[in-house]
Amino acid sequence: MIRAYVALGSNLGDRLATLESALRALDALPGVTVAAVSSAYETEPWGGVEQPRYANAVAALDVEGDALSLLRACKAIERTLGREPGVRFGPRTIDLDVLLFGDRVVDSPELTVPHPRMLEREFVVTPLLEIAPHAVLPDGSPVTAERAIEGRITGVLGRLSAFRDAPRGAG
Ligand code: ADP
Ligand code: MG
Repeated sequence: MIRAYVALGSNLGDRLATLESALRALDALPGVTVAAVSSAYETEPWGGVEQPRYANAVAALDVEGDALSLLRACKAIERTLGREPGVRFGPRTIDLDVLLFGDRVVDSPELTVPHPRMLEREFVVTPLLEIAPHAVLPDGSPVTAERAIEGRITGVLGRLSAFRDAPRGAG
């Protein structure tokens, strides 16, 4: 069993309902259990495209399987929840990014783990540290907020009701 962390983001439609649907879909995957979910945060768009604010969260998953299968399942969930191909860094109903997959390092065209830009993004680092205060990168270095200057958090939207009872502070 591997502990993985996935970042969720939405800035179109009912953002919180979409995050909850994505969490339920992740939990329904064979071999995947949602172990903990952060609060949802409202964050500034990043990447230079004019668009609405995001709702972001991070989930801890217990996974039986490999990182590429998890990524492909995430992409399938994105399609199911109505994500349309669009501008890179542009608005999306749902974005699911694999942040960490145990202490695995993956570097292929389809998948890079740890996610290469995770430490620069406040909307990733803050919810990750909320549920995994001792999260480490594969080289053993701690995840810290020092470099997290993109995608600033402007407010807390609260806990996601679907997983309000999931244990916190796991990992
Ligand atoms: P972004 O999340 O960067 O805004 P997309 O969600 O459209 O953009 O993803 C672009 C590509 O990034 C995907 O096709 C996917 O194969 C690739 N990718 C590489 N590493 C990861 C990762 N760790 N998590 C999610 N996608 C990844
Ligand atoms: Mg993505």
